[in-house]
Amino acid sequence: MCTSRSSFGSTVDLGAQFITKSSNLTSTQEKLYNHLFDEGILQPMPENVEGLRSLPSAVGHFICPSGSGSLVKYFLKKAGCEILFGHKVIKINPSNEKWETLCENGASHAFDAVVLTIPVPQILQLDGLIPHVERDQIEKLKAVKYCSRYALGFFYDSESSFFKDISWCAKFINDDIIRYCAIDVHKRKGTGLPSVVFHTSKEFGASYIDENADAVQDLIVKRIEQLFPQMPKPNEIKFQKWRYSQAKKIYCEKQACLVASNKPLLIFGGDGFSNSNFENCVLSAENIAQKIIETVS
Ligand SMILES: Cc1cc2nc3c(=O)[nH]c(=O)nc-3n(C[C@H](O)[C@H](O)[C@H](O)COP(=O)(O)OP(=O)(O)OC[C@H]3O[C@@H](n4cnc5c(N)ncnc54)[C@H](O)[C@@H]3O)c2cc1C
Repeated sequence: MCTSRSSFGSTVDLGAQFITKSSNLTSTQEKLYNHLFDEGILQPMPENVEGLRSLPSAVGHFICPSGSGSLVKYFLKKAGCEILFGHKVIKINPSNEKWETLCENGASHAFDAVVLTIPVPQILQLDGLIPHVERDQIEKLKAVKYCSRYALGFFYDSESSFFKDISWCAKFINDDIIRYCAIDVHKRKGTGLPSVVFHTSKEFGASYIDENADAVQDLIVKRIEQLFPQMPKPNEIKFQKWRYSQAKKIYCEKQACLVASNKPLLIFGGDGFSNSNFENCVLSAENIAQKIIETVS
């Protein structure tokens, strides 16, 4: 969930675009939706989305008027804890009944319990972790697979009749490179400068994920120009590589998380254990919280 900002202050969602509410929710999911509606974090998505295929279980689609990053900020604020941004964990090992973490910036900390919700291949890359996880769990973790995508954000420093006249706010596209496009400000029913996001197809991501970034960006921009010849040239472009975009094979675990160690407590969770959408991430969080409560009580 990533909302990117231009140098002139406009924003675009480069990751998650909308939340699909389904029937058969847990009471926690239902309660969270109610909070998010009451707080104005979620609002119904406009109906002019072209090519959207909904599952029969979907009861509605919702957007974050302040960008999908606001959803993450909302939960972090609610948690009321100290948050250290810019701390990439590179090493983790047990010491004195705690987990010691070392970050890329040199900072180190000791925790009674650690919850990792990073892409599973990146869990496996953490220095020091593998010897403390059971062999069969490692094998199942290695089997978790993600698709890759690129996202491109176009920012404009002035209004344009092109965007005012367009009949859709978002569109799924049948093309070998571009899969999705959204006029961000229209999707959020907002006012302000136009910005546009494009997502590439899974197939393009699979073929080009390790290619040179500038060459890939050129390819994508050229295809956008072919698909939307009237679209004005942007003043700024944001290029985002999602190597681990959405999970296509999750960890085979009914609990939507994995307790890798009980003492000291180490839990893995997030969409690699529960599928890549808001409700499944909430389900994973719900299960993680339950495991922590069971362990400390
Ligand atoms: C392009 C795209 C479009 C999507 N569209 C939708 C959508 O429309 N609707 C929807 O419901 N879902 C969508 N999703 C899926 C949704 O965004 C994910 O399922 C969700 O963000 C997963 O949450 P998470 O907490 O498991 O992991 P993430 O959101 O991936 O969060 C992991 C966090 O950990 C950080 N991190 C990684 N490694 C380390 C480390 N070593 N140390 C410290 N921090 C680290 C990362 O920077 C990141 O902030 C989309 C995803 C992508 C990529």
